Amino acid sequence: MVPANGSRRGRGGSQAAGAAHYNQQMARFGSLGGGYAPGPPKYFSIDVECVATGTDHNARGVGQISLVDEYERVLLNIYVKPEAPVASYLSPLTGLSREVLEKHGVPLATAMQYLRSYLPPYAVLVGQSIGKDVGWLSLREGVDFESMVDLAGLYRIWNAAYNSVSVFSLDHLAKVLLGYNSAGGTQPHNAVSDALKSMQLFNYYRQVRNVAGMWKSVEAALLAAPVDESFAKRHPCFEGVCMGNRKKCTCGAPFLG
Ligand SMILES: [Zn+2]
Repeated sequence: MVPANGSRRGRGGSQAAGAAHYNQQMARFGSLGGGYAPGPPKYFSIDVECVATGTDHNARGVGQISLVDEYERVLLNIYVKPEAPVASYLSPLTGLSREVLEKHGVPLATAMQYLRSYLPPYAVLVGQSIGKDVGWLSLREGVDFESMVDLAGLYRIWNAAYNSVSVFSLDHLAKVLLGYNSAGGTQPHNAVSDALKSMQLFNYYRQVRNVAGMWKSVEAALLAAPVDESFAKRHPCFEGVCMGNRKKCTCGAPFLG
C-alpha cells in the first residue's frame, strides 16, 4: 500500500520547474494524510503491460495489470499468464519475463475477477491512452465503469512553433511535471509505477489547470524539455516483433485507435 500523500514520488532534480509547481501545490492543498478521511474513490487509473503473442504490432496479450485509486493507493498488481504462446516478452519495454509470469501469473479470467471486485460501476478510469488498456481487458463502458479520461487529451498542447498540437508520453509528463528520472526512456515500464504516475498526473492537472499563470508555465515546461526517444523508435522491430512505430512499421498491420 502506498501512503496517500504519494511519498514514493520520484525526484529527478533537473526538472525542477515542474517539481516545484507540484510542491507548491501540495503545500497549498495539503497532503491527504494526517487524519483526513477521504470519501470513496471515484477516479481509478489502470495500466496494462502486454507481451507479444505474434509478430505484428497488434498481437499483444495481457501480462500485468495494476489499479491505483485517486488517493494514489496501489490497489492491485496482478501478473497474468498469457493464454496464447508468447512470441516475445518485450522485456526491456515491459519489465516482464517468462520467469515472472510463470511463477506469479494467473489466468486472465482470475485477474479480471480481482479487478472487477475493486472497480465500482461509477468509476472514472484515468490513463495515458486509457482506451487501449480498456480494450485489452475487454472492460465495458457503462457496465464495468462509467467513463474514461485520457491524459494524452488533458495535456494536449498547442505548439505554435510547429503550428500543430503536441501530445506527450506518460514518461515525458512525469519527468517534466513530477520530477521523475526518466533515464532517457531506457528503463522498462511497470504497470504499477505507470498507473501511479497516471494518477499523480491527473491529480496534478486537477490542481493546476485553473490556477492563474500555472497552466501557462506547465505548457512552456512540457514544450521546452527534450523528448526521450521511445522504445518503438529505438527498436522498430524487437525479437522479430513489429513495435508499431508508424514510420518504421515492418509488419503492415493496420494502426488501430
Ligand atoms: Zn507494424
